[in-house]
Amino acid sequence: MDQNIIGFDLWYLSLPVVSARDHGIGRVDGACEVIVLRLTAEGGETGWGEASPWVVFTGSPEATYAALNRYIRPLVLGRRVSDRDAIMLDASRAVAHCTEAKAALDTALLDLEGRISGQPVHALLGGKCRDSIPLSVSLANPDFDQDRALLDRLQADGVRIVKLKTGFRDHAFDLMRLEALARDYPDFAVRVDFNQGLEPEGALQRVQDIAGFRPDFIEQPVRAPLYDLMAEIRRAIDVPLLADESVFGPEDMARAIREGICDGVSVKIMKSGSMARGQAVANMAAAHGLGAYGGDMFEAGLAHLAGAHMIVATRAIDLGCEFYQARYYLAEDILETPFPCDGGRVQVPDGPGLGIRPDVDKLNHYGIAKGLAA
Ligand SMILES: [Mg+2]
Repeated sequence: MDQNIIGFDLWYLSLPVVSARDHGIGRVDGACEVIVLRLTAEGGETGWGEASPWVVFTGSPEATYAALNRYIRPLVLGRRVSDRDAIMLDASRAVAHCTEAKAALDTALLDLEGRISGQPVHALLGGKCRDSIPLSVSLANPDFDQDRALLDRLQADGVRIVKLKTGFRDHAFDLMRLEALARDYPDFAVRVDFNQGLEPEGALQRVQDIAGFRPDFIEQPVRAPLYDLMAEIRRAIDVPLLADESVFGPEDMARAIREGICDGVSVKIMKSGSMARGQAVANMAAAHGLGAYGGDMFEAGLAHLAGAHMIVATRAIDLGCEFYQARYYLAEDILETPFPCDGGRVQVPDGPGLGIRPDVDKLNHYGIAKGLAA
């Protein structure tokens, strides 16, 4: 671990997706853009990380690329692999926000350390407390017939948890889809996520209507800063209310607990900026009797792997994960071998580092010029 880091390479990727998706306050269509980071140590070992921003949620891919390329790169080159904590601290001070860039750096440093030491990333995070993670797949297609086809495929694959994205169209569309799920797919557990899609006026009534379907939970019905309204909605409904956009890191989690805005939280490394901070969010939630699940952004398999290692090492993340894009949303993922997912559960590799590397040919194929090169 005394090796110096001598390589810092970035790919700005545009990854085609198989359909449009509407999520509350935002839409994805055509492709999603992610940044991939490769660190190289003396001796040639590599560590990989992915940043997956969403422009209406965490930030833009352009800002993420600039944070890594301009502000973080000089902090990393020439440092020892064992300086991981100090490098992360320096990165947190060098550029505000840009949590996705910091998540990519954290992932690449952990992958590199794991590769060199022969340990899986989950061992570096405290050790495994579970072997696999139940998978939840989100339904967000504006054409519900296409989501029905996806549901049939999920059923055949053994997936039994879906999350319905609501609040991007009229209320009747949401109610129609919930009725269809209850009637035609009764063996699926259903979760609901508004992605901040409701205006404050009338939000409570709409959420109460949704609660009548008894989903596992209802997530982030209103805008992230509206803590008072989240708390009011939580008090008024009798199904759990989850916070996502309202809680990025441990600082937000502390306030969310103080103000009683949620019964659980979505933990994402793209929000927290590192796996350790994601674990801190979950552990704070658990200490106050709240649940947590492993959420994601529009990610490729590399970021899924990072999240999966964090979750198997974190007992407090007890509501499964949402790492479905690599298999069910991207036209093609970027990993050398498929993101491991079988029988409705994500299986986490036990090999060194993250266990699977990206395919460099695919990175070069999907890389796009943005005029942002070093
Ligand atoms: Mg969400």
